[in-house]
Amino acid sequence: MSQATDTDVREDGIIESVSGPVVTARDLDARMNDVVYVGSEGLMGEVIEIEGNITTIQVYEETSGVSPGEPVEGTGSPLSVDLGPGMLDAIYDGVQRPLDVLEEKMGSAFLDRGVDAPGIDLEKTWEFTPEVEEGDEVEAGDIVGTVPETPSIDHKVMVPPDSEGGEVVAIESGNFTVEETVVELDSGEEIQMHQEWPVRQQRPTVEKETPTEPLISGQRVLDGLFPIAKGGTAAIPGPFGSGKTVTQHQLAKWADADIVVYVGCGERGNEMTEVIEDFPELEDPTTGNALMDRTCLIANTSNMPVAARESCVYTGITIAEYFRDMGYDVALMADSTSRWAEAMREISSRLEEMPGEEGYPAYLSARLSEFYERAGYFENINGTEGSVSVIGAVSPPGGDFSEPVTQNTLRIVKTFWALDADLAERRHFPSINWNESYSLYRDQLDPWFEENVRDDWPETRQWAIDTLDEEAELQEIVQLVGKDALPEDQQLTLEIARYLREAWLQQNAFHDVDTFCEPEKTYRIMDAAKTYNDAAFEALDAGVPVEEITDIDAAPRLNRIGVQEDYNEYIDDLEDDIESQLRELY
Ligand code: ADP
Repeated sequence: MSQATDTDVREDGIIESVSGPVVTARDLDARMNDVVYVGSEGLMGEVIEIEGNITTIQVYEETSGVSPGEPVEGTGSPLSVDLGPGMLDAIYDGVQRPLDVLEEKMGSAFLDRGVDAPGIDLEKTWEFTPEVEEGDEVEAGDIVGTVPETPSIDHKVMVPPDSEGGEVVAIESGNFTVEETVVELDSGEEIQMHQEWPVRQQRPTVEKETPTEPLISGQRVLDGLFPIAKGGTAAIPGPFGSGKTVTQHQLAKWADADIVVYVGCGERGNEMTEVIEDFPELEDPTTGNALMDRTCLIANTSNMPVAARESCVYTGITIAEYFRDMGYDVALMADSTSRWAEAMREISSRLEEMPGEEGYPAYLSARLSEFYERAGYFENINGTEGSVSVIGAVSPPGGDFSEPVTQNTLRIVKTFWALDADLAERRHFPSINWNESYSLYRDQLDPWFEENVRDDWPETRQWAIDTLDEEAELQEIVQLVGKDALPEDQQLTLEIARYLREAWLQQNAFHDVDTFCEPEKTYRIMDAAKTYNDAAFEALDAGVPVEEITDIDAAPRLNRIGVQEDYNEYIDDLEDDIESQLRELY
């Protein structure tokens, strides 16, 4: 978090009242959303309401012991983040204080209050390689040089978005701190490797484009049935034990995003600790480097008050936009947006606002959509294209999707991955319920799959969907009268659907090969099931009894395709065997 300079410091106010994270102050000279330092300990807060000479502040640190009469100091600047090299591999709290630095300053993590620390290391030097020359004209957003930030990512140093631009009159090359000037313009403007940006303000772009490329996750059920676009939005509800953590790790590891921003806002303390411990251990499977080399973690720990959950979310999306501006595809995962909504509810009730549904404020829906709105596939102001995809976890109490946070989220996001506790109990993983989930990107992404995988991708997928739908209907009858009462063709459909579920939809995150499935393999497994389907129905038409068809010994091999490394050869053989074994029956 950036600190205000002395020159902006405004007149102090006096604390009037303290109610949990909400503090009111008298006679403070401040504007909406300004950062202020509250009490003699200087706790960081943000102005959320101004009425006459009373200013209401939400405080991002625990307020116990703070009392009326203590001073409040305004900074004159809105809540902003420091953007520059050093954010990858970092673990921040909700107001962009690096947790390792805090730990050093305080001796132990999350103990003290009122400690400030810059979001990026001001002393570390970075190797700057210029990309423009003296005499070049540059404009806002233009890339003037690069820094190898981590083994995985080159950081692009950009002219700040609010710059007037101008002609480059001096440019450096070599090792500098983020505060040293690397480029000078004829206007006198000096450009450093870091910039500040207010978190509540979307970074400017030229335009939001219709996303046409999928964010490939390597998970068959997602890529095959419910794809998300690069620049798309998705919600994933995660009842306890349903595989939420595994799914999130899989996405962070395998999604073909350049950068991952993981926002953990106020899940139960130990869950966040899990993330803080787990992520630094994970390896980036594509490069072999640490996953943290392309990841920024923002973790609001449980001992931070609720208000900080909100700043977490905004800090995260602003960092994501900054990397997008460099031309990168960024995936932001927010876990869990329900905790953020609960924070809004608590603050709103302390402000004595008129409550909406289940006590959530009336602006819940507006806040959520403002956040998801910042996702998208964009043409950036420097001419590059980049995307921010947002995947928000929701934790509906009791798994009840009719509650307001889930419902409001569903109205906004275009992909819904319903994790299902029943499936998890039956050990069907990933436990994405294929009847309840959906993706509104499916049609617009079809041309990509047709061009880059197979041109009959949409038709084959539609066959799979129809088969699974039919199974769902038939299952209801089976429950009443038993499977044997069904006509033979329906019995056969049930058997094919079972293979679709077991061979295609199920995927073992812990198997070296099966953990990632490229789109070609996703297609081929689904198509192998269809090959069995087509040959089996031909045999049935020729009068072969259904038990004989389902008894062929090649069929169960479908369930082992996932773990095959040389799957093409395996499937070619399997399809031949299925066809010839069935042909022998008539
Ligand atoms: P949650 O975070 O929702 O409580 P987890 O993600 O920890 O649940 O998953 C619970 C267990 O389910 C895991 O320990 C693992 O055994 C199993 N599991 C979840 N997803 C998968 C998967 N894709 N492949 C294999 N096992 C899985």
